[in-house]
Amino acid sequence: MRVLVVGGAGYIGSHACLALAEAGHEPIVYDNLEEGHDWAVQWGPLIKGDLADGETLRSAISDRQIDAVIHFAAYAYVGESVTNPRKYFANNVGNTLNLLNAMLDTGARDIIFSSSCATFGVPDRVPIDESQPQAPINPYGETKLMVEKILRWYGEAYDLNWMALRYFNAAGADPEGRIGESHDPETHLIPLIIDAALGKRGPVKIFGTDYPTPDGTNIRDYIHVLDLADAHIKGLEKLKAGASSQALNLGIGRGYSVREVIESVARVSGREVPFEEGPRRPGDPPELVADPSRAISTLDWEPRYTDFDEIVRTAWNWHSR
Ligand code: UDP
Repeated sequence: MRVLVVGGAGYIGSHACLALAEAGHEPIVYDNLEEGHDWAVQWGPLIKGDLADGETLRSAISDRQIDAVIHFAAYAYVGESVTNPRKYFANNVGNTLNLLNAMLDTGARDIIFSSSCATFGVPDRVPIDESQPQAPINPYGETKLMVEKILRWYGEAYDLNWMALRYFNAAGADPEGRIGESHDPETHLIPLIIDAALGKRGPVKIFGTDYPTPDGTNIRDYIHVLDLADAHIKGLEKLKAGASSQALNLGIGRGYSVREVIESVARVSGREVPFEEGPRRPGDPPELVADPSRAISTLDWEPRYTDFDEIVRTAWNWHSR
């Protein structure tokens, strides 16, 4: 398949390009490089374009004879989405409509969309399966839910085939060290802990130690970025084979607390990790863990990285280079 990877210069998008190339497909990256990196585009051409630009999107799809689209491009800072929702709704929803409309205009009919466990808000119970109610508690999660809903209606009206993959916490990096996680500003836990271990920045702050969890800190389901990438490819292949459009939860089905993540980095790196205990970060549910069984059966897919230290090791190797 020739796949337009929108946002393919970013963290998860670039790993998807790697996985697509390894599976024999042809990734064509569409990215404005606002948050992505040109060095991360290594497995196919880069079209430098913006999601706001329908004309460039349409010609990217028709000129390159695109068979399918994977859409990663979005703003993804939860805190910023609360203070500047306008930016999030305009890009994550408004510009995604440009992409979907460009697909309709050019005849492209298969899309995998990056959704998020943030669409669930504070879950009634964990692990979270697809039957749980979606009630986002921040604009970022709301934008992802809105696009899921748009996909349903577009699917019914226009024969658009889609899958919305709801990621839990993406983690790790290409084990060969060609690409990895690099955000500016960096807000994600594992890179911050690694930087603290490397002495590149001060102690990592634990956001809240009074949660109703065994050690008082937040629990998240960290899934290796290449396992996520793989699920996208399986999703596209299934759609092409006639699978029905649907949303699936992607995690490994096990949670680790912030303290456990710090301990893992200390083990893997052999260094001490300086940390400080601080107040809760607004908008953080205590525990988010996926029930990935539907994804596993629907996609014939399984996370290969099931050892948490191994996931952390791939991130450590990338960051410490
Ligand atoms: N976290 C933390 N200190 C930090 C950054 C994150 O304690 O400096 C916690 C955060 O509260 C959450 C977990 O680490 O429970 C993962 O946060 P991250 O921002 O990496 O991903 P998110 O869950 O927000 O997508």
